[in-house]
Parts: sequence; structure tokens; C-alpha cells
Amino acid sequence: MAGEEAPPGALNLAEYALAGARTVDCFRRIRKIGEGTYGEVFEAMDIITGERAALKKIKLDDGKEGFPRQILREIKLLKKLDHENIIRLKEIVVSPGPAHGTGGSDDHMYRGDIYMVFEYMDHDLKKVLHHSTPSQVKFYMKQLLEGLHYCHVNNVLHRDIKGANLLISGGNLLKIADFGLARPFTRDGSFTNHVITLWYRPPELLLGATNYAEAVDIWSVGCIFAEFLLRKPLFPGRTEQEQLSKIFELCGFPNEENWPGVSKLPLYKTIHPVTPTKRRLRDIFQNFDCHAVELIDRMLILNPTQRISAQDALSAAYFIH
Ligand code: ADP
Ligand code: MG
Repeated sequence: MAGEEAPPGALNLAEYALAGARTVDCFRRIRKIGEGTYGEVFEAMDIITGERAALKKIKLDDGKEGFPRQILREIKLLKKLDHENIIRLKEIVVSPGPAHGTGGSDDHMYRGDIYMVFEYMDHDLKKVLHHSTPSQVKFYMKQLLEGLHYCHVNNVLHRDIKGANLLISGGNLLKIADFGLARPFTRDGSFTNHVITLWYRPPELLLGATNYAEAVDIWSVGCIFAEFLLRKPLFPGRTEQEQLSKIFELCGFPNEENWPGVSKLPLYKTIHPVTPTKRRLRDIFQNFDCHAVELIDRMLILNPTQRISAQDALSAAYFIH
């Protein structure tokens, strides 16, 4: 992962109050909700308060590698972010078992299971992506953009916006979840381009860019918005090559005129124009709300510097009419 920042120094789990953490025995497990990259997600109930929660189990690699770096980053970011459209990390709990610390200098090494406790949400957006009403779509899009705008002003890129990572509860309330690929960013940074699920991945990452910004998340939002309208994925590529071809078929072929600097991207020389090379994105949305289509069109601009920001998207005509 070229350019990824290393976790600062040795892992200091004390920072996450593990020493005083409650154990998972404080929860009654109800059912398994999902299979995470680093472990499973369960619906559970706090035995004392009766409150429902989602428990994300963190798989530790026998303590060999220590605490997974991504999980550490996820916890750090979630602790920092506080917004109604971002999932709330309530606490961290540990499995009962041997007390943490095995003596010696490695005092912060915990060898049992660790769980992230989140507020419980009814389901993810993937479930309703292909059958939502226009007013629901508008409400979901507004909340998604509000949450994302908050991330971006706080210099956080989510880097995995897709239906399965957007959670819905209490009648249409949306929260952005799964900060497992998220990271803080700076304008002149260099980051890995192996992020974002293929169908929602923007052209700059597919072309190998390592200096990218908020616009990567906006592309994913545009793909989701389009999917709401079409009731099927917009760019369901099977390989990175096919993903780029599908994008170019609708958005036109990138060149120095419509995207200055594109020819310098590492993989630009590997791509070939498809016919027609002209942008025809709007053609497939002829029968939809013109304000919705106009906004999708501005989210799915090839050149990331011209792509609309979350803030500007929120004041688009689509949200006013
Ligand atoms: P991963 O990084 O492995 O994708 P996620 O945080 O996305 O882990 O969780 C996996 C799945 O579990 C989600 O797609 C969602 O369906 C479900 N899930 C996660 N958190 C919650 C929650 N707080 N409430 C309800 N379901 C959740
Ligand atoms: Mg996920």
C-alpha cells in the first residue's frame, strides 16, 4: 500500500480505554447481521439498559500482527466524527478471558476478542436501492451528502461509499457507516488507489492516481444516485479494465482537453478510446426528473477537479424543487 501512513508508534490501546472496558457479556446476542472484512457483525441487546446495538467483532490475528491498522484508524476516525448522518460508535467491549497484558514491556497487547459497539440500524441501503420512491431517494441523497460534507470539512475521505455501508433506521434516517477504508487527507498527500468497491470507483483511481481528494467519494454518490433511478447498478464492471470501458461508454473518453493532466496518470497509456467517444450519460436518463439528472451529471464528471462538491450538491436545484 504505497504512501499509506503508518500507525503512529506502538499501538496504545490504553487510549481506547480498553483497560476499563466492559465485557461482551453485558450484551445478549440476538442474531448475526453481516460478515465483516475483519469479523462478524451481530445484533445484540445491552442486558442492563435493554438498548439494541450492533456489535462488530474484530478478528485479531493471534496477536501476531497486533491490532489491525485499518481497525485502529476506523476507531480513531469514528471517535472524532460526530454527526447525525454518521454512525455512532458507542463503546468498545472485550471478551472476558485472560486479563489484557501479558507482562513484560508489551503492556497494551490484548489477546482476547474486541468488539466495536454501534447504535443499531434496521438495515442497509442495498436492500432498498432498487425500490425507493422519488421522495425517499431525495431524502436519502440529502442525508448522504450532509454526512459526507461533514467528513470532507473534517478532512476525512470515506473511500468505500456503497449501499452496504449506508445504514437506514427509524423510517428513512440514513447514516454513513464502515469507516474501515476511511483516512484523514491532505491536499498534497499520496495515498493508495486500491480503495472503493469496483462499481463505485472513480476513473482517477482506476487510472492509478495516488494524489486524490474528496471527489472520489462524490463519484460513488453519483453511482448510487443513478442506481436509485435506474433500479440497477450503473457501471457493473467485472474487471478494472471493463469498469473503465463502461465509464467511458457513458461519460466519454478522457483527454487533455476535458481533463488536463489525465495523460500523465500511470495507466492512461493502457486505455483505448471506445466509440462513440462523446459523453452520452444524459441519454439514458431521458425519462427522469431533470433536476436529478442534472445533479448526477455533475457528480459523474471524469475530471475530479470539476466534479461537484458535497456542499454545492446540497444547494442544487434538485433539493430546492
Ligand atoms: P465491513 O467493513 O466488513 O464491510 P461493515 O461495518 O460494513 O463491515 O458491516 C458489515 C454489514 O453489517 C453492513 O453492510 C450492514 O449490513 C451490517 N451492519 C453494520 N453495522 C450495522 C449497524 N450499526 N446496524 C445494523 N447493521 C449493521
Ligand atoms: Mg462494509
